Amino acid sequence: MGSIFDNIKDVRRGITEAAMKAGRSPDKVQLIAVTKTVGAAAVIEAIESGIQVFGENRVQEAKKKILSDEILAMPGKIEWHLIGHLQKNKAKDAVQLFAVIHTVDSVELAEELDRQAEKIGKIQRVLVQVKLSAEETKSGVTEKGLPELLEKIAQLKHLWLEGLMTIPPYRDNARDVVPYFRRLRELRDEAETAGLSLPELSMGMSHDYEAAIEEGATMVRIGTAIFGER
Ligand SMILES: *Cc1c(COP(=O)(O)O)cnc(C)c1O
Repeated sequence: MGSIFDNIKDVRRGITEAAMKAGRSPDKVQLIAVTKTVGAAAVIEAIESGIQVFGENRVQEAKKKILSDEILAMPGKIEWHLIGHLQKNKAKDAVQLFAVIHTVDSVELAEELDRQAEKIGKIQRVLVQVKLSAEETKSGVTEKGLPELLEKIAQLKHLWLEGLMTIPPYRDNARDVVPYFRRLRELRDEAETAGLSLPELSMGMSHDYEAAIEEGATMVRIGTAIFGER
């Protein structure tokens, strides 16, 4: 592994190459640097290397980092995305801390986020997490439950529904997860046919982001390839 600066350069090059290969504009793929377990010094190095969007998977850990003096002191605009499972009792903090919440997976959670966003006069940007494999440990709404959840969220006045997110099962060969990425895009297309606008597809991590981009990812969530093994 190189320095954080060099790793970011490599990932950006990988994103550009994957986008070109797919005939897509690299500008349409947002790099989210995933900083779970990573300390403030590394976050600052990433900011200094041009990263503006960060992903965290736990509210408590993120809160400490986001509100730390060192990070608050950084000039320029950065934003934080929640990419891990969210419990309803953390919805209030989540709405205060995160520009985008990628992991809405139930009507109850959506309604709680809507209430908390209303309280602070915010329109909360959200994605719906879809569970595409039978793995017990993965959260997310099932394909079957998706249309109803999307309909409900679209009616909530303080949520702004932007798209779908998924975490495919791990496979040694990233080509083997292509069907999951493709399925998420198809589900998005079906929802758009039904009248919703869902421009964002949050899919792809360090070992499979090129494949995700070829299938239409607009947000890739990269931790290890930037910060090293956790
Ligand atoms: C940790 C995490 C990532 C980043 O994974 P890497 O393999 O380290 O790039 C992406 N998405 C989610 C939801 C994560 O929890």
